Amino acid sequence: MLRIFNTLSRKVEEFKPLDYPKVKMYSCGPTVYDYAHIGNFRTFVTVDFLRRYLKWKKYEVLSVMNITDIDDKTIKKSNEEGVSLKDVTLKYENAFFEDLETLNCVRSDIHPRATEHIEEMIELCKDLEKKGLTYISQGSLYYRISNFEKYGILSKIDKEGILEGARIDSDEYEKESARDFVLWKGKKEGEPYWSSPWGDGRPGWHLECSAMSKKYLGEVFDIHTGGVDLIFPHHENEIAQSCGATGLEPVKYWFHIEHLLVNGEKMSKSKGNFFTLRDLLQKGFDPMAIRFLLLSVPYRKRLNFTLEGIDSAKSSIKRIESFKIRIEDEKEKYQNIESQSNLEELKNHKKRFEESLEDDLNTAEALGGIFEYIREANSLMDKGEFSKEGVNLSFELLSEFEEIFGISISRRESLEKEVERKILEREEARKKKDFALADKIRNELKEKGVILEDTPKGVRWRKE
Ligand code: AMP
Ligand code: ZN
Repeated sequence: MLRIFNTLSRKVEEFKPLDYPKVKMYSCGPTVYDYAHIGNFRTFVTVDFLRRYLKWKKYEVLSVMNITDIDDKTIKKSNEEGVSLKDVTLKYENAFFEDLETLNCVRSDIHPRATEHIEEMIELCKDLEKKGLTYISQGSLYYRISNFEKYGILSKIDKEGILEGARIDSDEYEKESARDFVLWKGKKEGEPYWSSPWGDGRPGWHLECSAMSKKYLGEVFDIHTGGVDLIFPHHENEIAQSCGATGLEPVKYWFHIEHLLVNGEKMSKSKGNFFTLRDLLQKGFDPMAIRFLLLSVPYRKRLNFTLEGIDSAKSSIKRIESFKIRIEDEKEKYQNIESQSNLEELKNHKKRFEESLEDDLNTAEALGGIFEYIREANSLMDKGEFSKEGVNLSFELLSEFEEIFGISISRRESLEKEVERKILEREEARKKKDFALADKIRNELKEKGVILEDTPKGVRWRKE
């Protein structure tokens, strides 16, 4: 039975979807004004992990992740660069999907764009207006939070200090400046606009997630995800909007991912302490090692990012990979051996992997289970004390790991592809008499433990 932490109750709860085995899940997606940094990807990779895990548990998941293509940041970028909002947002939306793929994240079932749901947002505002939860001031429509009884239910904000009638126009702000927030912003010079019952303007940021989750998942759904920085104000305001309009609390489980830090501080664009995925790939890091690193610390703990961390994630993957290769190479040997010692111990390590994930996705413990398993299995194989059942159990565990963590470890094939590509590159260089480049490629491969031999039948390669 899966247990997950629910920010709403601040407790680890048994996961019971509203309509078993269906699970409806909404994830706040990227604001497409720039390349996402790997702090953002800690959140998105974890969302992917949660979906993979739920699917592995045989839930039928319907997932929606929005694309924020209009807000203060996207407009600012489009004005700074003198490019249309659509050109800016489409460029970074494409980059986002490319990066997701590089990190082996599966796309959500639906990725709605905010600008394509203006009508739904206007309808929602009309509902809120009917309930007496809005007012107009200087051409913009605001949410009157003092009229919504449950304001603060998620972030546990103390409503006492909030000034009645004080307003805030910006999309992002801290708990300390909690105010009536803007639903529909009156038209401003240099900003795109749509017409509405309250005049020309554009939606505030929070509105889109309430409108789009309702459209695609209904008034009440199972899981809503985001980084912890979204608890306030974004998700608090989402509840105010959705529940304000329907009277129903929209989300059963609020799932928030802790931050990726750099030297103890949140990785963020504004602090300038960030790496994009592309920066890291350019430095030669393997995306699967980055994925492994992002998942290696349980999602509710902060994770301090270092480049060394990626190297050690890479070694961890290698350990799993070597084990898989060994099992593949030696499996025939054990085909006729029916029993072995310590099988129970191996089963216990595998159980630790599975049970730790049920315990609020404790990935660190789960990986501990895998490495203990590998250590034990290797030592048994060293002694020749292995069996057919041991082989099958090992393959089962490896495929569970690959499926749930989304990390493929059949790397021999990819090494082959890489070597073949390099050999072709070297032949081209030799044809052009660029022997310096040809030698450089040969040396690069040698460093990877691959030896090239020029034979009359062409180039052959072998592992050192
Ligand atoms: P944004 O594109 O700024 O709307 O952010 C996309 C997602 O990344 C949101 O769910 C944020 O909460 C999350 N996020 C932003 N910074 C970090 C960080 N340093 N670590 C983890 N998640 C983050
Ligand atoms: Zn959102």
